[in-house]
Amino acid sequence: MLYSNLGINEKGHLTVGGIDTADLAAEYGTPLYVMDEDVLRANCRTYVQAMHNFFGEHAAPLYASKALCFKGIYPIIESEGMFADVVSPGEVYTALAAGFPAEKLFFHGTNKTDEDIRYGVSSGIGRFVVDNINELRSLDRIAGELGKKQKLLLRLTVGLDPHTLEAINTGRVDSQFGVPIDTGQADEFVREALACENIEVTGFHSHVGSQIFESDSFNRQVEILAGYAAKMKEETGFVIKELNIGGGLGVRYTEADPLLDIPGRIAEIASHLKNECERLGLDVPRVFMEPGRSIVANAGLTLYTTGGTKEVKGYRNYVTVDGGMADNPRYALYKSEYTVLNASRMDDVADYECSIAGRCCESGDRIAEFIKIAEPERGDIIAVLTTGAYNYSMASNYNRLPRPAMVMISGGSARLVIRRESFEDMIRNEL
Ligand SMILES: *Cc1c(COP(=O)(O)O)cnc(C)c1O
Repeated sequence: MLYSNLGINEKGHLTVGGIDTADLAAEYGTPLYVMDEDVLRANCRTYVQAMHNFFGEHAAPLYASKALCFKGIYPIIESEGMFADVVSPGEVYTALAAGFPAEKLFFHGTNKTDEDIRYGVSSGIGRFVVDNINELRSLDRIAGELGKKQKLLLRLTVGLDPHTLEAINTGRVDSQFGVPIDTGQADEFVREALACENIEVTGFHSHVGSQIFESDSFNRQVEILAGYAAKMKEETGFVIKELNIGGGLGVRYTEADPLLDIPGRIAEIASHLKNECERLGLDVPRVFMEPGRSIVANAGLTLYTTGGTKEVKGYRNYVTVDGGMADNPRYALYKSEYTVLNASRMDDVADYECSIAGRCCESGDRIAEFIKIAEPERGDIIAVLTTGAYNYSMASNYNRLPRPAMVMISGGSARLVIRRESFEDMIRNEL
């Protein structure tokens, strides 16, 4: 099995955290998102401990909210000692509504409106991560109007190309995120920021991409950032206090993906940063990282009920499910691979080759293609693993499908954390 929190019981059913998935499906309905709180907390601890060990006590991981944002996650990450990054006023609102401290929020976003900026500054957001010069000017003006001095990091583009998908690669010089170092534009950005009156620049931010397994891009990233910090110190006298190196560590979706040694990777990044800082005569800054996927992905799975098989003679077989791209658009967007199990027949041989098709009127509505599972009958429960990240947060009502419920399991029991949307919910704002 892909993960140690999964098992098979005497009925031949898949269990998660010791609970029969068929019981979860019967009690809460399908499609159903299931999150294992114990796995989620263990992932938080891995980052917190490794960052403290290798970067020092002041270092902290920020949970990247966009991977999975709902009220119930904030008390968990806060109790594990994490900060959070948010990318929109909606995420700010959700975190604050859950009682998460505003000073532990870092506000990202590539096109924050003046309204967003005003909301963030007046809420007491810990740091803005400023994407561009237009935002910088608005932020300085608005902070002045509100009589505040806003702390911020400047988002820089390091000009790296990690080997990951085009759609989730953000570090290249021509990325729409941040201001590039290579073109010299970062210099103007930093100088202008230092001259602003109502802000305090605490350091730099950069994020190179997502679902990255190789260590090279992170090592190069910290070298480039340290080199740039040294150059700006020499030219302007400005010394960074903080460095946020983003998220992006890869997650194991199928047996073909490696299992990343996160503490090992953090140790390696830390030693690169320390060596560079020493060589350049810089104090090692306070380091932040922003894991999203690697905190929540493997804590989640989705349960569906199958409508049965459809065999297109001479071509392929389909297994249909009662959800699909509306609750999990990642296959449609990126051709992302998943591990799929027939949760009702775990003792049967997984030898039925099929594609998993969703219920939307859209030929791209697939969850997986040409995989093997135990041959299902109509009514079997199908489990798709590793759906904790970028599933609920990307879900839509396409084809007027209500978004699924979510349960959180811990210590052998389950609790509802997101109610299933109703048809009434979907028409509530329609006049
Ligand atoms: C998406 C994103 C993250 C999180 O990336 P993961 O791959 O989920 O770890 C962190 N920081 C920024 C700026 C992002 O855009």
